[in-house]
Amino acid sequence: MSVHLLEPSPVTEARAARPCRLCGHGLEHSLVDLGMSPLCESILAPGQLDAMEPYFPLHVLICGQCFLVQLGQYVSPEHIFREYAYFSSYSTTWVAHAKAYCEMIAPRLGLGPDSLVVELASNDGYLLQHFLPLGVPVLGIEPAANVAQVAIDSGIATRVDFFGVALADALVADGRRADLIIGNNVLAQVPDLNDFVAGMARLLAPDGVITLEFPHLERLIAENQFDTIYHEHFSYFSLISIERLAAGHGLKLIDVDELPTHGGSLRVYLAHLGSTWPAAPRVADLLARERRRGFDDIATYASFAERVTRTKRSLLSFLIAAKDAGKVICGYGAPGKGNTLLNYCGIGTDFLEFTVDRNPYKHGRFTPGMHIPIHPVEAIDELRPDYVLILPWNLKDEITQQMRHIGAWGGRFIVPIPQMTVIDPKEARS
Ligand SMILES: [Zn+2]
Repeated sequence: MSVHLLEPSPVTEARAARPCRLCGHGLEHSLVDLGMSPLCESILAPGQLDAMEPYFPLHVLICGQCFLVQLGQYVSPEHIFREYAYFSSYSTTWVAHAKAYCEMIAPRLGLGPDSLVVELASNDGYLLQHFLPLGVPVLGIEPAANVAQVAIDSGIATRVDFFGVALADALVADGRRADLIIGNNVLAQVPDLNDFVAGMARLLAPDGVITLEFPHLERLIAENQFDTIYHEHFSYFSLISIERLAAGHGLKLIDVDELPTHGGSLRVYLAHLGSTWPAAPRVADLLARERRRGFDDIATYASFAERVTRTKRSLLSFLIAAKDAGKVICGYGAPGKGNTLLNYCGIGTDFLEFTVDRNPYKHGRFTPGMHIPIHPVEAIDELRPDYVLILPWNLKDEITQQMRHIGAWGGRFIVPIPQMTVIDPKEARS
């Protein structure tokens, strides 16, 4: 009997380990595999709903050598950032955070009319605007032209470009050196980490300071923040990995702050190795704490994946029971992190009527993958849902305050991370 066989496919060799983005060592360890997922920031216009949608692996690996947690790069930064939908100024909490930073750092570094502050990924000028009343010259670097235009229109010098050694050298050739370089929530989104940090080192004046803010890997692991993992975030940093990255480019850690933003962030202060800046004791203290907690030991990371699947099961169990009981649920927010959660858990319009967002750019569009419609915030008042699932849980205090009136019709909030919690607005802190 003859059996029709398909053309045998070539023997699949175990894929050669991809090199670590920081140190080049082969990546052999998995942190968590969230399956296939669309790009989190690619919200869809109605005309795109019938089109094929690209999905990419959301499989997080960790380097056994330098402990950088990282995703493979499946799309170019040009694709992600040329038309970016995120305008920082739509978060009042974030703008207030930026203002407080500017008012702290300007006197600390003695910045004045002869200084230059450069912000990398300056977005719509949400931060640099606060230096203008202080009389400090600024330059924003922002690759997304539509977002940069908002900053330019409000008088904030902004260059539409990607940052790296090439741009740093061009600026230095123009006679510009930065006394302060700011990078808030940009390091994670840089595919070529070494080029980016080398560029900062070249642009930095001899006694200048770099401050970088990024979500702290320690909080991601401890608080189960798996939804902060998405394709646009290539890297996830501990202080241990940052120290190694900085040292590779002649930079040293001189201070570190632990911040509540984005579920728990670090703000690191870097300076040239040869500069006279001393290192604050907090640097050694935090490095020691990370080592004590095992962030330099691959075994520490092994239990994370199981905690992620447990969170998925408990959230789905709650939503299924609520729907079976006839409850009406909608979402709040359409952030990138929401899309990882929705796609990984398979939460679509079978659970959520719609989600809302304060950013008008997103209205009338749909979340990637699950195709949940995005409405203005007022849609919640019309629907009067039983539950509002807060997707940007890092802003839950702000949102539960702004939306506490849902308690008038018995509405309650669901916060999915670190574990599923229901909040009655009548009991939320005011
Ligand atoms: Zn590495």
